[in-house]
Amino acid sequence: MSRAVKRVGSSLRSAKVKSERSERCDDQQGEVKLMFAPNRYIVFSRFNNVDHIHIREYEVKGTGQYPTKRGVCLTVKRLKMLTNRFEDIDEQLRLQDETTNYKVHLGAGVYASVGTFKGVDLRRHWIPEGQLEILPTKSGIFIPRRQWNCLKEKIADLLSSRPHLADVEECLHQNQLDIIDCRECLPFGWAM
Ligand SMILES: [Zn+2]
Repeated sequence: MSRAVKRVGSSLRSAKVKSERSERCDDQQGEVKLMFAPNRYIVFSRFNNVDHIHIREYEVKGTGQYPTKRGVCLTVKRLKMLTNRFEDIDEQLRLQDETTNYKVHLGAGVYASVGTFKGVDLRRHWIPEGQLEILPTKSGIFIPRRQWNCLKEKIADLLSSRPHLADVEECLHQNQLDIIDCRECLPFGWAM
């Protein structure tokens, strides 16, 4: 419904009213969009009962604002992995020099890393067919150090307005066989 409403625009008042009525029970779970830098947002949305948190840059075209490829999509678990690593990441930023090479797996193909540039890179990775190394894709967002603090504040704001996002636990597996089937922990099969 919401997609159809978006396509025809808000001029069709009757369609909008109908959509609001049918989605009223879901109001508590409505989209949250918080700006942490110019044209950069953390966006929480729930679709088909699945929560997603995008950290994404938008571009302005005409009067509209559209998501770009510069960003990552986090599940609730990946967001938890990220917030649990804030201290580590901050320590890496504090000690950063030309040898810094920190990378932490958030889930599926998504990693957070701190390298020699002053900031945090959130990015999807992949393994090209027949290769052994996990490589960054173009799908991701580099967050300069001063934006990083704003992003952390906005994540805290999001968690206080949607407390259930903080309730989730990190993946814990009892044994190797269990972990092998987890696409969050082992998106590339054997590789960590
Ligand atoms: Zn897992």
